[in-house]
Amino acid sequence: MERFDVVIVGSGAGGGTMAQALADSGARILVLERGDFVPQEDENWDPEAVWKHLRYQSRERWLDERGREFSPYTHYNVGGNTKFWGSVLYRLRREDFQAIEHRDGVSPAWPIDYDALAPYYDRAERLYHVRGTHGLDPTEPPRDPYPFEAVPHAPAMAAIVEQLRGLGLHPSPLPLGLLRPGEEDGCILCNTCNSFVCRIHAKSEADVCAVRPALRHRNVTLWTNACARRLITDGRGRRIEAIEVDREGRPTRVEAPLFIVSCGAINSAALLLRSATDRHPAGLANSSGLVGRRYMAHLATMMQGFHPFKPNSTVFQKTVAINDFYLGGPRSRYPLGQIQSQGRTHGVMAQTAYPFIPLWAYEAWVARGVDWLVMSEDLPRLENRVAVDRDGRIRLHYQPNNLRAHRQLVAETKRILRRLGFWLVVTHSHGSKNTTHQCGTLVFGTNPTDSVLDPFCRTHDIDNLFVVDASFFPSSAAVNPGLTIIAQALRVADHIRSTELRVGSDLRESPVFQS
Ligand SMILES: Cc1cc2nc3c(=O)[nH]c(=O)nc-3n(C[C@H](O)[C@H](O)[C@H](O)COP(=O)(O)OP(=O)(O)OC[C@H]3O[C@@H](n4cnc5c(N)ncnc54)[C@H](O)[C@@H]3O)c2cc1C
Ligand code: SF4
Repeated sequence: MERFDVVIVGSGAGGGTMAQALADSGARILVLERGDFVPQEDENWDPEAVWKHLRYQSRERWLDERGREFSPYTHYNVGGNTKFWGSVLYRLRREDFQAIEHRDGVSPAWPIDYDALAPYYDRAERLYHVRGTHGLDPTEPPRDPYPFEAVPHAPAMAAIVEQLRGLGLHPSPLPLGLLRPGEEDGCILCNTCNSFVCRIHAKSEADVCAVRPALRHRNVTLWTNACARRLITDGRGRRIEAIEVDREGRPTRVEAPLFIVSCGAINSAALLLRSATDRHPAGLANSSGLVGRRYMAHLATMMQGFHPFKPNSTVFQKTVAINDFYLGGPRSRYPLGQIQSQGRTHGVMAQTAYPFIPLWAYEAWVARGVDWLVMSEDLPRLENRVAVDRDGRIRLHYQPNNLRAHRQLVAETKRILRRLGFWLVVTHSHGSKNTTHQCGTLVFGTNPTDSVLDPFCRTHDIDNLFVVDASFFPSSAAVNPGLTIIAQALRVADHIRSTELRVGSDLRESPVFQS
């Protein structure tokens, strides 16, 4: 048995940031991470290793709603999925915090508004080195200038931006978390960023920006290859006493007065469900019956504009966003979502969609293509949920909704790309198996019958249990979720410091140390 003051489970966007934010509190913090550090090696940037041999992807197999196995596109390692992200780090729009009518129903209001999170977005952007230019995006919420200047568009993208302006649109720079681009030890703006690990640690991700800085504090300990199996409650079922951990194959029990779970929206829900007891037969913190429910993942389509006589020389392509249709379309009064330019597609990546087409054909194709991602909000539905089998295996029930809005956005984007002169536009979607933007399985709110977490992400049912990954989202919005997870983790950390740790006073008098 081991004992710490705070146990954080998971080291991704939520957990890694939480460790960094609490590191100087003096509390003895243990971070449990089921994976290991991703080594810095040539394979980090090798499309074959990443896309063909799936070198870094989890080997787990989950079940879908019909009981069919699939390989989730998720990663278990220090830094979680942030190691692989495109580092597009957006704030939600002010409207995303309010109830908005969508084509397929209402996207619910959040229990906090934009102003409550704005100071934490500021901190999150500084911590994760977010670069952008404010004042160009028509949907941008009120904000000060970005802490770092936007990455300039490559010449071909700059020309596209001018063309887009000529069409009456308002393209804006994508906010990107990149460390020191152009400097000697900084980001080299390569073409293997999104879905790859940065071999030179120049991407703003949780391992680099949060976990390693936290580990410089002697009171912070990281156990890698340590998978949390089960949370154990006291006799009354009101507090977590301990966590059962599989540490490099050995069962270990860790006790602490405070537990902060951050395994990702799907795994955190699964952990609470697997921790069912006689007092909590439906899983922990589940008096509302909502643990695992309202799972969301965004509707996402990759699009490529192709021109046979125009080779695309751009290396770093992911710099432009079009948010003109975020709150309503030219042919729709409902929100449609967001269009972003994407990192360059590699032939091997494209081949995963249709393996029978030879690689050289794909290479010729992608060399003449410009890549885009089109993303729309999906709405929370009770029937879209995470469940676990008797043996604890994850079963994901997901039927996408709001599809008409997404199709409209795809059609609009096709129209735009054709007007830009592309001969052909191809589309591809991972559909319901796309778990990259998973969120919303332990929704936060003020009413314990209608939410699992309170507005500071403490579970309504269990006093010393917080959850700070993407599971708190009541709606998925249509921008990338990472910066909002980070900002809320910073907000919750401040709350924990003032209510549980009382930094500045004698730690032994803090509630955590008295329990
Ligand atoms: C290829 C890709 C590109 C993306 N691009 C972007 C982007 O550009 N912008 C953006 O905002 N978002 C992006 N995302 C999404 C983003 O990565 C996630 O939203 C974010 O990482 C979620 O943070 P989290 O804290 O909820 O979970 P994660 O970051 O996934 O962290 C969860 C951690 O918990 C660990 N864990 C899980 N179960 C256990 C357990 N039982 N015991 C111990 N540890 C456990 C995992 O190993 C992992 O380290 C992308 C995702 C992918 C996969
Ligand atoms: S060098 Fe820059 S562009 Fe390349 S992977 Fe690293 S952060 Fe991304």
